[in-house]
Amino acid sequence: MSKRIAIVGGGYLGADLAKSLDDTADITLIEPRSHFVHAPAMIRAVVDPSLLDRALIPYDRLLSRGRVLRDRASGIDANGVTLADGQKVEADYIVVATGSSNATPFKPVGDDIDGLRQANQRIHGQLKAAQSIGIVGAGAVGIELAGEIAFAMPDKKITLISDNDRLFPTMPEKLGTALAGKLRDAGVTIEFGQRAEDLQSLTEPFSGRLKLSDGSEHGFDLIFPVLGSRASSALVTGLPGAQTSGANRVKVDAWLRPSSLPNVFAAGDVADAGDGMTIVAISRELPWLKATLKGLMAGKQLEEIKPYKPWGSKAPILVPLGPKRGNSFLSLFTAGDFVTRKLKGKDLFITKYNKLLKRD
Ligand SMILES: Cc1cc2nc3c(=O)[nH]c(=O)nc-3n(C[C@H](O)[C@H](O)[C@H](O)COP(=O)(O)OP(=O)(O)OC[C@H]3O[C@@H](n4cnc5c(N)ncnc54)[C@H](O)[C@@H]3O)c2cc1C
Repeated sequence: MSKRIAIVGGGYLGADLAKSLDDTADITLIEPRSHFVHAPAMIRAVVDPSLLDRALIPYDRLLSRGRVLRDRASGIDANGVTLADGQKVEADYIVVATGSSNATPFKPVGDDIDGLRQANQRIHGQLKAAQSIGIVGAGAVGIELAGEIAFAMPDKKITLISDNDRLFPTMPEKLGTALAGKLRDAGVTIEFGQRAEDLQSLTEPFSGRLKLSDGSEHGFDLIFPVLGSRASSALVTGLPGAQTSGANRVKVDAWLRPSSLPNVFAAGDVADAGDGMTIVAISRELPWLKATLKGLMAGKQLEEIKPYKPWGSKAPILVPLGPKRGNSFLSLFTAGDFVTRKLKGKDLFITKYNKLLKRD
């Protein structure tokens, strides 16, 4: 009889893992949203809402043998997962992939896909009407957002506010310098070394004034708070021995286990395995998890399996500034417009995820 695997959360980690083990195990994927949310496309969707149709992908074709339960998990123990309505999904192995939340309109609030569509429409309208745009936070999402708006709406006056003295301070200097140069070419002002204080909202765009750490004040027609993701770790933080780290993530051991329960794994944004909160990190965790679960199902002991090894400083990153320009770091070298456009800027991996969920 096939082993039962319960996967909690159908984001990049959970959906891909469920599909790839569908023919070797009895899979239950627990996911309250009606649609998979392709986050990288949500940035360009602010300037081009027509992208939403293909960036929100229904779950109904993902699995052939297993099932997707449209429900929210409320508890975990060594025998399985308890759902919000009290039902229990019994399992031999459990993978927690509950991911993270982010500001509107980049990720849904909770399970609300219609709410995300409405927020996208509303904010797109506000953006069209605005003259001056402030973007608070110059991580990958803030930088890409500045690039997308500058490309699609070149008449806007965009200010990107960074609390560092360069873009991507932990990556090779060339990456940040090249991106800053291209943003400036496109008319974006970058304020380095500034923190915005007393933001009116941390979770959705608003119109108003920003007070910066140097004491200056600036009015904007629209301000996007882009301050990073926060892990949805409530399911695992109460498990025996679980510990949290930055951004609300749960720490995992070298075999991606968040607690002393030997058959419970956690991966993706929710788990701090030494990687960033990215799909790039997941692209490394996935093959390890697939092989590990297959090994365990074949009777191996976990200790016989090689521990997971994070990317370290080699984690690649692709940063498009609209569909044509951008820069990337590809583990050994940095690349410019052509490579960034081919690998990501043109399609934003939308085709890849429509294939994964069998819509194409
Ligand atoms: C705007 C934006 C752009 C990005 N672009 C890139 C990029 O270009 N490249 C890159 O590498 N990374 C990018 N990222 C980061 C990337 O989106 C995340 O790393 C990724 O979403 C993490 O995947 P995940 O599977 O861990 O979790 P998520 O994608 O967050 O999915 C978690 C799932 O778990 C479900 N869930 C939560 N709680 C429960 C529960 N209690 N029960 C059941 N289900 C639950 C949620 O409904 C959700 O579907 C971007 C992020 C944002 C916000």
